[in-house]
Amino acid sequence: MSIDAKLRERAAKVVPGGMYGHLNAALHGPAYPQFFVGGEGCRQRDVDGREYVDLMCSWGPVVLGHRHPAVEGAVAAQLAAGDCLNGPGPVYVELAELLVETVPQADWVMFSKNGTDATTQALMVARAATGRTKVLMAHGAYHGADPWCTPSPAGTTPNERADLVEFTYNDLASVEAAAAQAEGDIAAIIVTPFKHDSFEDQELVAAEFARGVRALADRIGAALVIDDVRGGWRIDLGGSWEPLGVRPDLYAFSKAMANGHPIAAVTGVDSLRGPAQTLYSTGSFWFNAAPMAAAKATIETLRAIGGIALMERAGTRLREGLAAQAASHGFTVNQTGPVQIPWLSFEGDATLEKGMFWAAACLEEGVYLHPWHNWFLSAAHTDADIDRALQGTDAAYAKLRARFGAD
Ligand code: PMP
Repeated sequence: MSIDAKLRERAAKVVPGGMYGHLNAALHGPAYPQFFVGGEGCRQRDVDGREYVDLMCSWGPVVLGHRHPAVEGAVAAQLAAGDCLNGPGPVYVELAELLVETVPQADWVMFSKNGTDATTQALMVARAATGRTKVLMAHGAYHGADPWCTPSPAGTTPNERADLVEFTYNDLASVEAAAAQAEGDIAAIIVTPFKHDSFEDQELVAAEFARGVRALADRIGAALVIDDVRGGWRIDLGGSWEPLGVRPDLYAFSKAMANGHPIAAVTGVDSLRGPAQTLYSTGSFWFNAAPMAAAKATIETLRAIGGIALMERAGTRLREGLAAQAASHGFTVNQTGPVQIPWLSFEGDATLEKGMFWAAACLEEGVYLHPWHNWFLSAAHTDADIDRALQGTDAAYAKLRARFGAD
């Protein structure tokens, strides 16, 4: 029995279902290991000693590579001085200043721990500012796991979701219709920077849609919230809609902000500073200094090394390599999303039978990617690492062809 299987057996006795939530390996396919013991750069090792080229980056947080020396050095120094104290350290102010300087939309910052904290806090600010109730969100979008937004209704009440009105991503008319339905009572429109729903091809945002939701929010006096938890720090250091010239009232950030250390942030515009100040929004660990030191080091390093360009280079190499391999093996694939937050699906594979088989074959070949959730690249992926990953994906395509035949 593998060490992974033994640990799962023990976990099943002391944790409901052994493992819950998005990191439950059972959801990713039977070949996926549950437990990991180490990571270095763009490699991760599972508990049975198998090493993978990591194309998931811990589902987003690891943006500079595992155990990046600048980040780990900053964390070690902060831990040596003190982490969880009676109040935040000076690094709280330094990090807030860095965020206000780096994100042009930001006039102020509030910190928390997880992406869900940030999206929830952003909506609280919007409601405090407007005195209104309803929130417009895209059908199928993921904004976290609190009762108002978790994709599974288990353990929640209909009331907890009653204030959401859905629209279709990239369809401005549907946002207008949702706004009309909730007329006069809309506190916020929350939107991700691109469409990255699980199990589906991704969709980049249409510039007219981004401009349209901005104009609509202004017209109806609602706050525009961009949930940049997934896209943030990989698309543009100034916020993921900065290249479009569209600025929200509130950005929610987390994941890649501190290269794997736990922290989230909401950034806001001046007009929301007063309402933000009225919230009672806090947590025992929200002001720990070490994750703040990690965030500061991560953002400074991303800026210094041109991290986004490095991820785009790696992502382009991966996308071109995967496309050439698919063609040579006779498969039609769809590669969607920004190159540094990619996903690949097989044409006509509605049941994901091919996708699951191919992902498991990639795993066998030492490449960790995901069958139904987008992947993430980091600034640590060199050309040689991508080429190593492509060796594995090529062998996986060959196995797929042997099993299913070409398209
Ligand atoms: N929003 C988006 C767009 C996300 O991708 C996620 C996490 N996958 C969240 C919110 C929630 O973040 P967390 O899991 O850190 O609470």
